Amino acid sequence: MNSPLTVIRNATVILPDRLLPAAGLVMRDGRILEIGKDRTRVPRGAVVVEARGGYLAPGFVDLHVHGGGGADFMDGTVGAVRTACRAHARHGTTTIFPTTTTGSPAEIHAMIEACRTVRDEADPANGARIGGVHLYGPFFAADKVGCHAVAGRRDPTAAEFGKYFATGLVRIATCAAELPGAAAFYRAAQRRGCFITCGHSNASWTEMERAFRAGMRHVDHFWCAMSSVASVRARLGTPMQGSMEQFVLANRAMSTEVIADGEHLAPELLEFAWRMIGPERLLLVTDSSRALDLPPGRYKFGHHTTGTDFEHDGKVGRVPGGALASSAMGLDHMVRMMKSRTSAPLCEVIRMASLTPAERTGIAKDVGSLAPGKRADVLLLSSALRVKQVWLDGVVVRP
Ligand SMILES: [Zn+2]
Ligand SMILES: [Zn+2]
Repeated sequence: MNSPLTVIRNATVILPDRLLPAAGLVMRDGRILEIGKDRTRVPRGAVVVEARGGYLAPGFVDLHVHGGGGADFMDGTVGAVRTACRAHARHGTTTIFPTTTTGSPAEIHAMIEACRTVRDEADPANGARIGGVHLYGPFFAADKVGCHAVAGRRDPTAAEFGKYFATGLVRIATCAAELPGAAAFYRAAQRRGCFITCGHSNASWTEMERAFRAGMRHVDHFWCAMSSVASVRARLGTPMQGSMEQFVLANRAMSTEVIADGEHLAPELLEFAWRMIGPERLLLVTDSSRALDLPPGRYKFGHHTTGTDFEHDGKVGRVPGGALASSAMGLDHMVRMMKSRTSAPLCEVIRMASLTPAERTGIAKDVGSLAPGKRADVLLLSSALRVKQVWLDGVVVRP
């Protein structure tokens, strides 16, 4: 096919390491053709978009996200998956990794199969493109289940996780490192080429070292539902030992993520994470629940009947008693927070929401930055970093 060129001009293009002012981008047939200083001559028949000085950014990549627009991926229906993917596309996410919660094997399989159907439709009208499933629950530590349904937590067994991996849809795999069976889980995930992460865990340094040898390279939502020196001491006594926190800070091969909604972590922790871990190892996730774009009210986290109740106050979810129950924001909000509350430069903030998660999950040759040959997943952002327009495979999904 030979569709017309789309030329976006008069923009500031956000590259992974710098901004390119007075620049533009040309795309055709779903791919980026070129990026550079504004063209003075536009070929006949081209669609011209005037950016009027706005920013052009790569579409965001979210590798930890439970739902949005009223749907949780664990609802397990094709309709729910499409609803959540569309909601996140409105907030700039063009590649999404639907994330399981704790739940029954039947619920997890239903979720995976619904994601397969929507992925295979490959329709930009469905919203963010599914990069694969993040198998997150159910293999959490009993003392770090957080807002997930406790009844749906269990230790990993090859009989169970083998079936999830056999679907071929799982691209990211989480397991708490201290659980019996964790090493076998990590090795099975490694054989499948998954990006392997440790989360909802009270693991010690020694347990993290063992997990690292089995292929684990990432820790879910830094400082949330993970171990600290104090929590490991409470579990294993003295001498005090290193925790997941020290393991990530000290190990250059490890990455992690922050929920930068302004409710989970104070600005000094966002600043600390960026300074200490850096934009190539730290990435932004939404960890969003179905409450994204919904008014304040009571909703279910996870499956719509067996999930846990939480209260959305308009900013964040909380379980009864006040503990946090995941975010209610899109990645555009996380980007604005990182930019306004930390000293990280804009190109690094955008990198943490696009190229870094793409690199870690092995899809950076195709998405994650504005570069010739990559998919035309492009965002037009206002000077205040609000999403004005989204192209997914070169198709406008948010006029
Ligand atoms: Zn979590
Ligand atoms: Zn989560």
